[in-house]
Amino acid sequence: MDFFPVFLDIKNKPCLVIGGGEVATRKAGMVMQAGGRVTVVAPELSSTLKKLADTGEITHIAGKFQPSHLGEALLVIAATDDRAINQQVSAAAKALRIPVNVVDNPDLCSFIMPSVIDRSPLVVAISSSGVSPVLARMLRARLETLIPAAYGRLAQFAASFREQVKQHFIQQPMRRIFWEKILQGPVAEMVLAGQDQEARKALLQTLAADDGNAAPRGEVYLVGGGPGNPDLLTFRALRLMQQADVVVHDHLVSPAVLELVRRDAERIYVGKERDNHTMRQENINELLVRLAQEGKRVLRLKGGDPFVFGRGGEEIETLAANGIPFQVVPGITAATGVSAYAGIPLTHRDYAQSCVFVTGHLKDGSVNIDLTGIAKTNQTIVIYMGLLGLPTLCQELVAHGLPATTPAAIVQQGTTYQQKVITGTLATLPKLAVEAKMKPPTLIIVGDVVKLHDKLAWFKPEPIDGGSSFTTGQSK
Ligand code: SAH
Repeated sequence: MDFFPVFLDIKNKPCLVIGGGEVATRKAGMVMQAGGRVTVVAPELSSTLKKLADTGEITHIAGKFQPSHLGEALLVIAATDDRAINQQVSAAAKALRIPVNVVDNPDLCSFIMPSVIDRSPLVVAISSSGVSPVLARMLRARLETLIPAAYGRLAQFAASFREQVKQHFIQQPMRRIFWEKILQGPVAEMVLAGQDQEARKALLQTLAADDGNAAPRGEVYLVGGGPGNPDLLTFRALRLMQQADVVVHDHLVSPAVLELVRRDAERIYVGKERDNHTMRQENINELLVRLAQEGKRVLRLKGGDPFVFGRGGEEIETLAANGIPFQVVPGITAATGVSAYAGIPLTHRDYAQSCVFVTGHLKDGSVNIDLTGIAKTNQTIVIYMGLLGLPTLCQELVAHGLPATTPAAIVQQGTTYQQKVITGTLATLPKLAVEAKMKPPTLIIVGDVVKLHDKLAWFKPEPIDGGSSFTTGQSK
């Protein structure tokens, strides 16, 4: 984050606007909307500003900016088209550590102004950190259509019951569950529909019916977070991610996906990286049970799909044995996500009749999977966790009858902007992977379908400076 987002209380505080043109008028208007006491410094004023000055709603200092005008100002906005003046304002304000914004001049700013969606008291502010204001405005336009105009009323309605609800529920989680029920349910609909009296009555009834102190019932959501790109989450995954109290995640969950979990949810990292098992599987199973027994809504977030090489089955077995309610949300597994983003159709009719997913996790350096029935032409083989054992795997597939010329690909961090694809054959891939310094997580695809990559690759991201958050979790 390049800027720290905050909302300032400027009610009745002196704020200075330099410039009297159209832009200055707009900025002064925004400051006034938030209750700031505006002084405008400019030789001449727009007609709107002039009216405001005449009625005493703003103060006008006719003339050129002088550092002495800064006085007690809480913030300063320079909106002149004279770069020298803008520079002077910026320097003078910065010297006094008064936050300063120079319109369309990020270099001279110590704060920038976001695009705003005003549903007061609910306010959404969007910024592109000054990099692309047009993009921020476009996003604002989209959100405007998504957030009902009456959301401000809803926030006000909630505010009027805030204290009463707080008194009723001693435990914070219960209070939150109550509010979620109210704000997502029929009461909210009544407020949005302007049926305030009914809404009040319904809220009070719900409150009375809720014995504020019963232990909340915990549950576990076993959720597949997909292969890394947050666009590939399901709606259900996102919804549960937004309502969980605690998230238990491992290394494969990408930071960009984790970013979408409710901000104030507790985060517990349980690792599980090759050779670095931060927490043993039994302990993870027990942890989930314990958290749910404490009444929490537990999000067990896993990379890909929880039931594909994810040990999700073992986790819910323990939950079932302990009578903990749970639900499972499938995710896009690496095989389908990564192959799509690498332009390798796993079962293209011309090349494959079947496709198998296998793990290449080697015990003691040997292949511990039975490759009979797997090493077949006309079959695509997708190998998870195969990087370390790649040379052995390729050798064994050849030993089991596949031609050494069989096409093979290795894809690192598929679906993310760090995706790297290397193609070769069973004979050449191990060496190519070393040369390309491939790092986990990687997926290996073996079979004639790999030939299609050259023609069908469509996702070819180039590294972007500072684009650090869009990676899959591990790089060690
Ligand atoms: N449950 C997961 C798999 C867990 S096993 C799923 O359904 O995808 C971990 C292995 O998944 C990694 O070693 C790697 O082989 C593969 N994998 C997961 N995400 C990947 C990605 N974005 N790119 C390449 N391989 C990935």
